[in-house]
Amino acid sequence: MSSQRSSVRALIERIPKAELHLHLGGAIPPHVLIELLDTHRPTQWLGDIPERHQRLFRETPNIRPFLSMERPGASELASLFVYASFHQFLATFLFTSYLIRQVDDLRCLIAGVAESLHAQGIVYAEITVDIMGYVRRGLCLEQVGACLAEGAARDDVCIRWIVDPVRDFGPEGTLAHLRQVLDLRCPGLVGMTIGGSEHLFPPRQFGPLYDLAREHGLRLTVHAGEALGPESVWDALRCLRPHRIGHGVRSVEDPALMAHLAEARVPLEVCPTSNLRTAVYASYAEHPLPQLYRAGVPISLSTDDPTFFETTLAEEYLHAYDMGLGLDDLFVLARNAYAHAFMPEDEKARYIAALEREWRQAGSPAPPLTLPFGGA
Ligand SMILES: [Zn+2]
Repeated sequence: MSSQRSSVRALIERIPKAELHLHLGGAIPPHVLIELLDTHRPTQWLGDIPERHQRLFRETPNIRPFLSMERPGASELASLFVYASFHQFLATFLFTSYLIRQVDDLRCLIAGVAESLHAQGIVYAEITVDIMGYVRRGLCLEQVGACLAEGAARDDVCIRWIVDPVRDFGPEGTLAHLRQVLDLRCPGLVGMTIGGSEHLFPPRQFGPLYDLAREHGLRLTVHAGEALGPESVWDALRCLRPHRIGHGVRSVEDPALMAHLAEARVPLEVCPTSNLRTAVYASYAEHPLPQLYRAGVPISLSTDDPTFFETTLAEEYLHAYDMGLGLDDLFVLARNAYAHAFMPEDEKARYIAALEREWRQAGSPAPPLTLPFGGA
């Protein structure tokens, strides 16, 4: 590694960072996952889950060995995260979600994720959570709400929650999910997204869901422009009126869309390694982050599912650097994560001031005074 790249890594690891696109289950630390695989061995519960999920797990090559494996080690666990398609990734995500079966499992997951974020210098995180998914695994809704409230009250990292009713449950199922979550009045719940199978459930089906969330004061983002192209992002903008777009990277295929995102200041939550691991792009060299950024689209960097994609937030900044972005640009990306967070303006200002202070104290060039693409 060049000494210049090493110093960029040291700088990025040092600055206080924010992450806006991070799924709770996808951030499970490996040691927590190993513990859960041991506590809830698949041989004990596989026969109780829907037949179609049993079949899916048996037919998915990276999952199959784990259905009968005794407590895996860290090196064996790595083979769980070897997949060649978005479908295979979703199957793996579903498999691990079956390991959260009791309230203590969820508490342990949230604590493990928070400790990992803190250790990486991430001070603010908006974490996406499929709340009813835990209820389907047998936890009661109030218990889930209590765990989320505890997470939002931690003092090592500021956690805010984004509920994901999961688009695969369709317009009616997601509406029912959201209504139950709204009744919970969960502290720290600030936003909503929909993840899952974009190609099967395009954004236009979810207008009423987004209207309900908006009426209740939730801020809005949506996974779009990942599995599908720019038409899905247009669809999301017109039908759902989100504040941000999750991924949105395929907007690069439509210059008019890029110009619109830049002009209307609609930020993209860009997760480069995720896009490679789910086969949206074949290599970092093909990733459109530099084109989107240079077109003036507001961008922040995230990891999406860091355990599943074997990455960290600092690694994502280094990938951006390797793609040709300079130090000033990395500062803009770091600042954008606060500027586009679902938090009050005065809190943003405090976080951004702390970021600027640390950036200067690290002996780096002064942050750019006029931020080319950094506005909120
Ligand atoms: Zn995501």
